[in-house]
Amino acid sequence: MTNKYDVVVIGSGVVGSSIAYHLSEKKDKEILVLDQSYPLSGTSGSTQAWVWVHNKTPAWYGELSMLSAELYPFLERKIGDVEYKRTGGIAPFFNEADRESARRLAEKQAEVGIDIDVLTREQVLEKEPALSANIAGATFSKIDGNVNPFRLVELYIKAAKKNHVQFSFYNPVMDIKRNNGMFEITTEKDVFIAKQIVLATGPWTREVGKLLGVDIPVKQVRGQILVTEPLAPLIKYTIAGMRQADNGEILIGYSKEEVGYDRRTTLDVIQDTAKMAVDYIPALAKANIVRCFAGVRVIPNDGYPIVGPIPTIDNAYIAVMHSGITLSPLVGTLMTELLTDGETSIDLKNLQLDRFNEFKSFV
Ligand SMILES: Cc1cc2nc3c(=O)[nH]c(=O)nc-3n(C[C@H](O)[C@H](O)[C@H](O)COP(=O)(O)OP(=O)(O)OC[C@H]3O[C@@H](n4cnc5c(N)ncnc54)[C@H](O)[C@@H]3O)c2cc1C
Repeated sequence: MTNKYDVVVIGSGVVGSSIAYHLSEKKDKEILVLDQSYPLSGTSGSTQAWVWVHNKTPAWYGELSMLSAELYPFLERKIGDVEYKRTGGIAPFFNEADRESARRLAEKQAEVGIDIDVLTREQVLEKEPALSANIAGATFSKIDGNVNPFRLVELYIKAAKKNHVQFSFYNPVMDIKRNNGMFEITTEKDVFIAKQIVLATGPWTREVGKLLGVDIPVKQVRGQILVTEPLAPLIKYTIAGMRQADNGEILIGYSKEEVGYDRRTTLDVIQDTAKMAVDYIPALAKANIVRCFAGVRVIPNDGYPIVGPIPTIDNAYIAVMHSGITLSPLVGTLMTELLTDGETSIDLKNLQLDRFNEFKSFV
């Protein structure tokens, strides 16, 4: 292993490994990915993994998610079977009063080509008979689906390695300095030199940003998920709140709590989540829950991804977001364009770091 690279990516979750893989397709850069732990130790190993588009708002954000979902079949042909299923997505509502906002959502998303149907109770139950008869209706879109995050990250890394990307795991970045226009990255095991650096550090981005002299406005938000025993096929669609994996397990939950890096599960949220599951799918009352897990999301302060250059430091870039599973194929593609050509095929203006008043740079 040399210690000089064109690009060092910090973080080997779904975002960092996608960037490394897409960049390696060009075969013209020496690339190193560093991780303080192992690739699925962060959020990417504790996620629902919906590839979810239809109620991402405003419409430009929905459009980005749609474009990324569109890349998944092509990605699978390149890196292998990541168990991507374009199941279609259902977001139920329980009050007739919500139908009007569902219609408005459909109208808005149609402006960017996201096709949403607003369904009656009967139409939803015809599609997904396991849903509760108490629902009033749902929004439905064909583009939504889900993926196996473990296979996704593993196959990104395998494909990147095939293209000669180097990885160094269990190797935290402890310091970053600028030296003659290059980055000097001190890790627990070594010092690496890089022309370009990418922060893909998920929930840890604030801490790693500080090593570069920038304060990046993101917060940590815990989510707790319940997992059932493997069940016979029960739900066909990805439902806002749950999905059934290929092995029959149903993953349930979308809780949000700001408790820092605490990844414990708690009885109150488990109980609320179980109640939500049964309200949605009454048959789940009989299912055994075999485990619960919690993950720490990173959520930029305004809720939208931060993707692009760090404005005050030449050759430093950032890619941090909620919905990194949905967005990883597109983010990998756009970051490759940016690092290679300095411009992107899709305007990143909504995603720039300097949109935040809270963004602070000490360099
Ligand atoms: C409960 C839950 C449900 C979710 N559901 C969905 C969903 O349905 N669909 C969706 O699209 N998204 C979902 N998300 C969000 C999604 O999982 C994340 O956006 C995505 O995993 C983020 O990937 P990442 O690569 O940015 O971060 P991570 O996977 O956290 O990777 C960051 C990496 O950086 C490394 N790192 C940090 N600091 C250092 C350092 N100093 N030195 C070296 N390495 C370092 C870490 O070890 C880690 O491996 C969910 C998240 C949670 C918690």
